[in-house]
Amino acid sequence: MLDPISLYVHVPFCQRRCPYCAFYSVESAREEEITSYPRLLLKELQLIKESWRGSSIGTIYFGGGTPSILPPSLVESVISAAKEAFQFEDDIEVTLECNPGTVDAGKIEAFISAGINRLSIGIQALNDDRLGFLGRIHDMNQAVETLKIATEAAGVDVSADLMAGTPLDTRESWYRELEKLLPFRPDSLSFYSLTVEEGTDLALRLEKNEKICLGSDEVVDLMMYIGDRLADAGYRHYEVSNWALPGHECRHNLHYWRRGRYIGLGPSAHSFDGKRRSWNKPDVTSYREALNNGNLPPSEYEVLSDAEVMSEWVYLALRVADGLDFGEYQEMFGEVPSSWKSLLEKTAASGYGDFDGVRFKPNDRGLLLADEISARILG
Ligand code: SF4
Repeated sequence: MLDPISLYVHVPFCQRRCPYCAFYSVESAREEEITSYPRLLLKELQLIKESWRGSSIGTIYFGGGTPSILPPSLVESVISAAKEAFQFEDDIEVTLECNPGTVDAGKIEAFISAGINRLSIGIQALNDDRLGFLGRIHDMNQAVETLKIATEAAGVDVSADLMAGTPLDTRESWYRELEKLLPFRPDSLSFYSLTVEEGTDLALRLEKNEKICLGSDEVVDLMMYIGDRLADAGYRHYEVSNWALPGHECRHNLHYWRRGRYIGLGPSAHSFDGKRRSWNKPDVTSYREALNNGNLPPSEYEVLSDAEVMSEWVYLALRVADGLDFGEYQEMFGEVPSSWKSLLEKTAASGYGDFDGVRFKPNDRGLLLADEISARILG
């Protein structure tokens, strides 16, 4: 039996497109288009399962798009089909991304009965002005209500996603939002920095010289402030954008960051077998056509060279609190480059983490500047 793999299921539908979003999703799809979609996922699963024979599944993640737009019975049908195709680990984690404005208490209960044991709630902000800037379909009261329902439900871990770095963000605004958020004690929290992605509405507004997001120094300052508040509340910063109460880290994402193998289903979803990464083309129409004709959907792939595998491993190691360990590196890639010891000593001495000669562990600031540190190490 090989190590457990992860399964990612992409649900490419959203009620309305958010102006900053570059993920693949279709806006305002017809109900029939949405409810017929899981049948395509099942067909894709049947076609790929042979190539992954002998694997068991440790985590499943329904991401999007807006997976909570699906009826819970259809989410259940995908989980059941995955269970028929693969063995499930006893402690399997099954996450569903869930947006306020698309669920109520009954629907959340139905998702839990369907087998979801972790809800990742895209609240993004607890302030109506910031939610308006981010173009979300929900307001603050709906975000609070969804958090309340989810955190009161039994048998489910709750994670909340928030977005930092809009021009409206200040320490004072974040003080007030955290005062509203933390009493719910979500098991884990993600804080993403707003970035301007090509092809989005925000990119067009930036071209017209509108102020779209804070500068990187301002974002790091804000994130340090947020991180201090979270640490006081008992949360551990375990990855660049992620904090969790002890034992509640997202295992699906940790699997990615440790370069574990995974299957992705749905248009734009990626799969990875340790060296070969493939991805379905982001087009639901050609995805539908191919599977209805009994074929795999159009996809592309890349095979990583040994040097790319090494760079990716280092880059990802520096993005998690456990950091980069020379012993683990040696086991996988051989001799550690001679310059790294002094580079990591200097990085630690500059206040970005701890280095004991064998393992470099980034601190809060080191995690927030992980890209700069890996660029320094990898040259
Ligand atoms: S709801 Fe999420 S996936 Fe959909 S457009 Fe907004 S940010 Fe993108």
